[in-house]
Parts: sequence; C-alpha cells; structure tokens
Amino acid sequence: MRRVDKQTKATLHIVAFSLAMVGALNWGLVGLLDFNLVEMLLGSWPGLVKVVYILVGASAVYVFAGHKDDCKICGEMMSKK
Ligand SMILES: [Zn+2]
Repeated sequence: MRRVDKQTKATLHIVAFSLAMVGALNWGLVGLLDFNLVEMLLGSWPGLVKVVYILVGASAVYVFAGHKDDCKICGEMMSKK
C-alpha cells in the first residue's frame, strides 16, 4: 500500500512539474517572441486553453507546496534552522 502511495505521489509530481514547466516556458515564449504555444496548439478550443491555464496554476501551487520535501537544497536549508 505504501508503495502505491509513493508511486501515485511520484506520478502526480511528474505531471504537476511538467505542467508548471509548460506554463513557465509558454510565458517565456510570450515574453520573448510574443508567441503563445498553448493558444496556438489549443486555440480552437477556448475552453481547453482555460483548463490548461488553470491546471498550470494548480500544478505550480502543488509543486511549490511540496518543494521543501522534494528538494534536497531547500530541505537542508529548512532543517538547519
Ligand atoms: Zn529547492
């Protein structure tokens, strides 16, 4: 049972991290080239674009909230205090 939990957590982490990175890269593209990849790929389904943005935001919150436990550097920093 614990292994399953770990597996689920790992999968969630990968999905959330990837989504957050997609959002960050998309923002970078918008800033650099005025090119919105998400809009270009999914622009024909405006509802879906919105869902992706919301998922990216939720993923960022998830990654940020779990970062202290996932990241060696931050984990060490926090435990030193
Ligand atoms: Zn960190």
